[in-house]
Amino acid sequence: MENRTFTRSAERVRAASSTVVGGVNSNFRMGVAPTPLVFERGEGAYLLDIDGNRLIDYYLGLGPMILGHSPRDVIDAAKQQLDVGLLYGGQSELEYRAAALIAEMVPCAERVRFAGSGTEAVQLALRLARAVTGRSAVIKFEGHYHGWVDSVLWSTSTPPEQLGPEDDPVKQPGSAGQDLPAGQNVETMSWNRAETLLERLRKGDIAAVIMEATMCNSGGIFARPGYLEAVREECTRHGTVLIFDEVITGFRVGPGGAQKRLGVTPDLAIFAKAIANGFTVAAVAGRGEVMDRLADGSIMHGGTYNAQPVAMAAAIATMDRLARPGAHDGMERQGTRLMQGIESAFTEAGIPVMVGGYPQIFTVNLGLTEKPCNYRGLAKVNKAGYRKFTAALLGHGVRALERGAWFLSTEHDDAIVDQTLSAVRAAVSEVAT
Ligand code: PLP
Repeated sequence: MENRTFTRSAERVRAASSTVVGGVNSNFRMGVAPTPLVFERGEGAYLLDIDGNRLIDYYLGLGPMILGHSPRDVIDAAKQQLDVGLLYGGQSELEYRAAALIAEMVPCAERVRFAGSGTEAVQLALRLARAVTGRSAVIKFEGHYHGWVDSVLWSTSTPPEQLGPEDDPVKQPGSAGQDLPAGQNVETMSWNRAETLLERLRKGDIAAVIMEATMCNSGGIFARPGYLEAVREECTRHGTVLIFDEVITGFRVGPGGAQKRLGVTPDLAIFAKAIANGFTVAAVAGRGEVMDRLADGSIMHGGTYNAQPVAMAAAIATMDRLARPGAHDGMERQGTRLMQGIESAFTEAGIPVMVGGYPQIFTVNLGLTEKPCNYRGLAKVNKAGYRKFTAALLGHGVRALERGAWFLSTEHDDAIVDQTLSAVRAAVSEVAT
């Protein structure tokens, strides 16, 4: 397999830095080795960059492109709406249909409210929980990411050794310039430790517990058996609103998201990413009793672009496809092959690795010899080694996230996965030598 070069991308990013800061528009797109890439188009499981490379893509826009790049049905639905209206500043039949589809698929979704991004939807869910309970304190977990704003960016990517004792964690801001008082009512905890959490809930002063029901932003880690059920029960008992952040897992790990797959229903859930295959749609969905508090207008929620009609048309087309029986089966099969193939490639080269998560979104934790059960279990991940691996992999035509996550689409078929696994073996042998 020929080794690709990325010199045009590197030059373009460098030159553009005189106008676009750092040449990128999100921190998640910087620091990519050998260079942040510049793309011309996407087709199915592939991206074409300005150096003429055709790359198998496992970034998938950081999750949304579950039907691959440029799926005909989604594009046609959006184009049709483009001709008749971009933004009404009022309601359209499209948003009612999109909400009805969410309600059909997602167990907790008796009511839906659309928002502009996952970050915004999280803010709405927390505000709602505080209004409904009349309490201020919120619990979030180390390594769980809920957006980049001041109130929730705590202990997301801090090195685990800086988080203090596991029983008495030190909350760490995630950004320079973060308004620290905005986090004064946020308590961080180490995830997957039922007793500490249940004990804290028993004080009866917690408005909400927010978590990724499966920790996909760090490690690809499942809740221990019984953990989610115990949290669910204790939240109900003490009047705490349980929020599952399904921005990654929603519509991706199955039509009903992680909550359906794991059999635990939260009070509220956040959706974004795979809901509209690349169009900007996010939503809070949840129990009528909680969500209906929004109806009297006393809880402020705005957003000029909420339920934007073109994006709603795309969301309906995407969800229509994902609701079909067997829609996730191909990803399940191909993701399982990839997880096993990647694990074997490293193991056979004598490099320890733990691969965790769902076939549709899994994480490769290089250097681990023990299965992690939370963020602290990721302390020994060999980040530098994995970064070398993804750079080598890119040279062999496969684009995967440097933080270890792999997103699948319905377009990743047998042949593409075979090709990926050959590239993986080639890249492993390069970094192993
Ligand atoms: N929640 C989770 C679990 C996420 O993974 C992300 C983004 O990656 C967000 C919230 C924030 O969503 P957005 O980037 O749409 O603001």
